[in-house]
Order: sequence, then structure tokens, then C-alpha cells
Amino acid sequence: SQFLIEIKNLKKYFPVKKGIFKTSSSYVKAVDDVSFEIKKGETLGLVGESGCGKTTCGRTILKLYEPTSGKIIYDGKDITKLSVNQMLSYRRKMQIIFQDPYASLDARMTVGDIVGEAIDIHNLMGKKERNERVQYLLQRVGLNSEHANRYPHEFSGGQRQRIGIARALAVQPEFIVCDEPISALDVSIQAQVVNMLEDLQGDLGLTYLFIAHDLSMVKHISNRVGVMYLGKLVELAASNELYKNPQHPYTQALLSAIPVPDPDMAEERKRIILEGEIPSPIDPPEGCRFKGRCRFAKPICSKENPVFKDLGGEHYVACHLFD
Ligand code: SF4
Repeated sequence: SQFLIEIKNLKKYFPVKKGIFKTSSSYVKAVDDVSFEIKKGETLGLVGESGCGKTTCGRTILKLYEPTSGKIIYDGKDITKLSVNQMLSYRRKMQIIFQDPYASLDARMTVGDIVGEAIDIHNLMGKKERNERVQYLLQRVGLNSEHANRYPHEFSGGQRQRIGIARALAVQPEFIVCDEPISALDVSIQAQVVNMLEDLQGDLGLTYLFIAHDLSMVKHISNRVGVMYLGKLVELAASNELYKNPQHPYTQALLSAIPVPDPDMAEERKRIILEGEIPSPIDPPEGCRFKGRCRFAKPICSKENPVFKDLGGEHYVACHLFD
């Protein structure tokens, strides 16, 4: 199969108690019936405002959260129901790089132990070989092999993110969820980290799910981009196509917020200000979840949930304007 990851009708609901007596349960529908595939060797970008479910989606694919329903297929094998033990060999193949390089590294561990931890957990090699591999990995991400004996607080944000990347690479993964890996970094450092992730992908044949809140951050690294809104995937297309030809009203609004360097384009792409509140993801109402903020909403939008439609050329959109 050309796909490394296939998710089918994936749902992840978190129960919340409500009411004074906290007897009735409601659900935060963080990921609500999302389906997509990631091809081997590609980068799929996943974007949307905070709270849209993109991070939960990435973590559920890795089974860091148990899916509520739906299917996760890894390289043709259904891993949805695998136990923790059965998941072990997949854990090695599927890694994550976290958003916050300050919070995600254990301050009491040396950099060498942080990077080497997964090698030890999976019992992959002896001490000497392991230490050599850690030194190699640190060099690979642009650090120094002597850094292995130092502690995270001695490093800048960009360097810490490199340590996080070395840690993810330690066990030779095939698939990495990059969970907003550059959002917390200085703008001057962001491009360096993205370029490094691209180089590593080419050299090691990696497949990425690249999560970001901003479309401009995923544009260059992604082959295709999916847009999420309140637990739903609303549009998916090749990166260039999505930027040139956004179809969903929400994608159009997101894109209009990005400054365009070309003044001719700026005329065409007028800033669309989104009106209305982002609805709560707790027990969301029927119909299109974007309806309260959509300039084109019509009666059917309040009644029926729009289904994902193929516009041709691998461009998909979920909106009643295309019925
Ligand atoms: Fe707007 Fe209706 Fe399309 Fe939702 S389905 S984005 S409310 S037009």
C-alpha cells in the first residue's frame, strides 16, 4: 500500500461532568469522525485554531490516547485494539516531537540519557554502542557529542528542540508526529528547525504528520494539508492547491489572515474577519460546526452535518456549498 497511516472515522471523546451534582456526563468531542491517509514518505500538515482537536488527533494516532471509536491502520495493519504489549514494536516506529522544548525534557536527566532512554527501554544495544549512537544523533541534529553530559537548562529553546528531535530519532522510527515543533521558538530559529526536519526526512525516509496552528508554518514542509475545525476535518488538499484555491469558508478565513508579500495578491485576498464565538466542543450542536461564524450559512447548515466530498484532484471539502 502507498499509505503508512490510514485513519477511518476516528473519534476521541473526553467525558466531562456537568451540573451541580455532576451526575450527567457530557463529552468533549475533540476528534469527531475524522478520516485521512498519510502516504509513505510524505508530510501531511494538520492545521486549525487551538482546541480544534489537531493535537488530540496526532496523539490518538500514536495511541497515547485510546481511540473512542474508528480505526487506525499502520502500514496495512489495524493497530486500533492492540494492547500495550502488542503495541511495543509499533511504539518504536512511531515517535513524537513535542511543542514545548522547555517542558518536554526531564530537567534532572543528562542530554545523553534523554536521547538514549528509548534505546534502553527497547533494549536495543549495549552501553558502549548506545553511547556512540547518542553522540552520533547529537551531531546529526547540529549539536556537539560532548553535550551528552550536560543538562537541558544549559541549552536555548532551539537547541532543546534539537535534543527532542534526536530523542525521537534514537530508535529509528518511520513515522513522526511533529506536534507544533516550532510554535514556541523564535522566528529566527523556526526556519532552521524546519529545514533540519526536511533534511532528516530525505535522508531517513521519514513520514511526518506536522501539526501547526498557522497555515504559513506548514506551507513549505507539507505535501498535503488538512484543516480542522472543532473536531472535524473540513478541507484537505495538496499544499499548493490549498493555498491557491481554498474552498471551505473557514480555510479562506484562515488564509486571509496570513500577510501576502505580493501586493497584487493582497488585493484579491482581502482579510476576512471571523465573526461570532468559537462554539464549545462540549456536546456540539447538529449541522456544520462553523455555521455560527460563516458568511454563507444557509438553513441546511443548521440541520445536516456536511460530508467530506471529493472535488477532484485529491481536493476534499466538507461544506454544503458543494452539495
Ligand atoms: Fe458555511 Fe454551511 Fe459550508 Fe458550514 S456548511 S461552512 S455553514 S456554508
